Amino acid sequence: MMNGLVVGIPTETVYGLAGNALNEDAAIQIFSVKNRPHFDPLIVHTHSITEIEKYVTAVPDKARLLMQHFMPGALTLLLKKKGMIPDIITSGLDTVAIRIPNHPLTLQLLRALPFPVAAPSANPFGYISPTTAAHVFEQLHDKIPYILDGGATTVGVESTIVGFEGEEAVVYRLGGLAIEEIEAVIGKTTINVNAASNPKTPGMLKSHYAPVKRLIFDNKTELDRLKASKEKVGIICFNKYIDGPDKNAQVLLSSRGDLEEAAKHLFAAMRTLDAGDADVIYAIRFPEEGLGRAINDRLMRASFRE
Ligand code: AMP
Ligand code: MG
Repeated sequence: MMNGLVVGIPTETVYGLAGNALNEDAAIQIFSVKNRPHFDPLIVHTHSITEIEKYVTAVPDKARLLMQHFMPGALTLLLKKKGMIPDIITSGLDTVAIRIPNHPLTLQLLRALPFPVAAPSANPFGYISPTTAAHVFEQLHDKIPYILDGGATTVGVESTIVGFEGEEAVVYRLGGLAIEEIEAVIGKTTINVNAASNPKTPGMLKSHYAPVKRLIFDNKTELDRLKASKEKVGIICFNKYIDGPDKNAQVLLSSRGDLEEAAKHLFAAMRTLDAGDADVIYAIRFPEEGLGRAINDRLMRASFRE
């Protein structure tokens, strides 16, 4: 990474495609390896709150509280950036998205490097995010020189993104830190994750995190049609199987009904079904609480087709 190279790194959320966040050439490489449009800004990763303060001009009180409670962790804050963060990283916005990943190997790496690291998910733009080093290898091995293998990710969905309008916090992406946890620290918080037409927040693109196969999300009419048809369907369930279809074609994300465990297994299950012999993937809706919200958000975007 010292020479503007980009490499695969583990985090607790998903694997990242990492490069020097202060080096424009590294950023250009990241966009090109991912085939990511330049209007989609990158998240900067560093190892301490003191480091974050080097790259931002101000920290609102609620941001400070969130940092103290949840960093390192699956929380990204949008803060006003200093000039040393290149415009290409933020797609020209005056805020930078910044977080401290909670992964021992990556924290060690970040402490050893003399710069912060930009690291979007290590997958081609729009596809399912990688949660193992093998996922990264399958898709990017001919494009990057190195993947740091830190095992399967423990959280399994991307970070929760929180920005600020004045002193007020706004959640722009549901993710690995539950809203309930955020609200326990800073009180009732606005959620604005559906501005798909807003080019400022492309992580909110309607269609994202998608398998190649068609994915149908929580649609009883379609499910009945599929049960009656000859199409082979692979099914993503929470803790119990759907009546009817062969159980071998169904994946339980958490047999003990734990939403954190379900989030951890979500993307790998989507990949397995995408690679298997199903013609179409069906996913149930998860409970709208805790990480269930982030799971439903990803499944909804995965199901969307332009
Ligand atoms: P990821 O694909 O996990 O690296 O997340 C990147 C996402 O973070 C983008 O798609 C945006 O939604 C969001 N993001 C990054 N930087 C900013 C920013 N400065 N302002 C608003 N959203 C941002
Ligand atoms: Mg991504």
